[in-house]
Amino acid sequence: MKVKFRKVQSDILKESFLEALSQYEDLHDYSITLHQKRVKSSTMQAQPIISLKNIFNGVKRYRIMLGVYVSNSDSLKVAEVPRSVMTGWFAHELGHLVDYLSYSNFGMIRYGLQYVFSNSFKMKAEHEADYIAIQRGFRDEIIATKEWVLNHDLVGQRYKNRLNKYYLSIEQVALCNTDEPPFVPKIE
Ligand SMILES: [Zn+2]
Repeated sequence: MKVKFRKVQSDILKESFLEALSQYEDLHDYSITLHQKRVKSSTMQAQPIISLKNIFNGVKRYRIMLGVYVSNSDSLKVAEVPRSVMTGWFAHELGHLVDYLSYSNFGMIRYGLQYVFSNSFKMKAEHEADYIAIQRGFRDEIIATKEWVLNHDLVGQRYKNRLNKYYLSIEQVALCNTDEPPFVPKIE
């Protein structure tokens, strides 16, 4: 695994990230940086690292930005989130990276624009990340993450609404059969 940690505040966060990543063998050849810093309006963002150099040589590198606080809360620290919840959260973000692998660096620029401008594209991308995480064996952790976010008093309602609108529901996740390949909607 080619993992770099930047300013990650706790060993438990690092351990739970490595626990999730261990089930993603197809990502082990890629450089992945987990970078913790204050992030506006979301808790985590999985991003390709695209520079003038690698847009032409095709080398793929990735970064997961991890907030210091959960979403736009200013009191709920990511470092205090229960471990299984964080593992589910990381498994979802790594699901995004698996999804990204099928795109070139140029293709990822188009992907990013579609994610921002198309709600249906965003929904498909979020569902796909969950499906991939479930397929890798993280169904219980994905459910733990959703239950924790939706039931926590200090998580803002806007964030909960976003989760309800774009992500798989707890019921949909519970119904996924992990023994069979999941139905993964293909993004055009
Ligand atoms: Zn996501």
